[in-house]
Amino acid sequence: MPRGPSLKARQFTESVIREMTREARAHGAVNLAQGFPDFGAPEVLKEAAVAALGAEINQYAITWGAKGFRDAIAGKARRDLGLDVDPETEITVTCGATEAMIASMLALVDPGDEVVIFEPFYENYGPDVVLSGAVPRFVRLRPPDWHFDTEELERAFGPRTRAVVLNTPNNPTGKVFTRAELEAIAALCVKWDTLVFTDEIYEHILYDGAEHVAMATLPGMRERTVTINSLSKTYSVTGWRVGYIVANKMLIDNVTKLNQITFNNVPIFIQDAALKGLELHAKIASSIKAKYKERADLATKKLSAGGFKFTKPDAPFYMFPKRDGLDGEKFTLSLLDKGVAVAPGTSFGDYREHFRISLTAPDDQIVEGLEKICEAVNR
Ligand code: PLP
Repeated sequence: MPRGPSLKARQFTESVIREMTREARAHGAVNLAQGFPDFGAPEVLKEAAVAALGAEINQYAITWGAKGFRDAIAGKARRDLGLDVDPETEITVTCGATEAMIASMLALVDPGDEVVIFEPFYENYGPDVVLSGAVPRFVRLRPPDWHFDTEELERAFGPRTRAVVLNTPNNPTGKVFTRAELEAIAALCVKWDTLVFTDEIYEHILYDGAEHVAMATLPGMRERTVTINSLSKTYSVTGWRVGYIVANKMLIDNVTKLNQITFNNVPIFIQDAALKGLELHAKIASSIKAKYKERADLATKKLSAGGFKFTKPDAPFYMFPKRDGLDGEKFTLSLLDKGVAVAPGTSFGDYREHFRISLTAPDDQIVEGLEKICEAVNR
């Protein structure tokens, strides 16, 4: 008999959210559990991918990514964040934000180091920390507005703190960290000589008035920030597996070493297509943003009428509601039989009362799903 899984693999389970997607299929339920967008990919990306294949662009890219794509990423960082980035030494292309986070942790965190994680958090961050042998230190984001307690954050830092995982705009809450909050985190990172791994995959999906502040742009943070991003959500291409990291040369050199022997690399024709997307970025991003805003406005109305409690998100990709007296986990399971799948709050930490709705299904399915959720509690 084989001896079974490693101690590391024993410490985490398969993604609950993906399991909910399978359950949704098995129950013929509307899937509001997983965040894969229903919109077609932008034409320009598809045409560029086909053209790249036609032009025989088939062979390995340089380990840290095709030059044209890195140039486009540097251009975007300058345009959107005001960051001057050297495309030759300060960017590495990754298989989505997923790889970017685990490669960064494996390359830059040692076993026994502590990593501060704001909770609720995107479910991969837990296994990322386990695989790098580190110890998570959770800091709670507190409903209804998902603020953190500054003293709790201060207590989470110490001499063993190697990194902070930040996700703004945030999955699952839709919170966008304010400049003042980021400055408070930054001050502690400077004090304790700590890195920040910041996952900014939802940076463009914001309500008007909400401002995405990139941690790397704050004083003292450029050299200690690993900025992670991906085309998955903004371009509705979660299956293309294309993302990237921006950081200083020393950090990038080490993440690239990891990438070289593990994921190596995003298919070359996809990189060629992705660069066209970044060139037309502003147009694509603003049309996607408008669609999510409409959906979140609708969900806000329906969920409020259904008696659910939540803070309207600053980033309208997900909602993370609860209802007095309702056990979010049991409710999530019971909804499957009623024809709708959502993600339980426990997938994101100790948030049993909550459940997460993803606003990525087609409009009619979102309406159907929300109606079923409301009917389930109002019978
Ligand atoms: N980071 C966050 C916060 C996410 O919500 C997701 C997907 O839902 C990912 C990363 C995965 O990104 P990618 O598809 O680029 O690997």
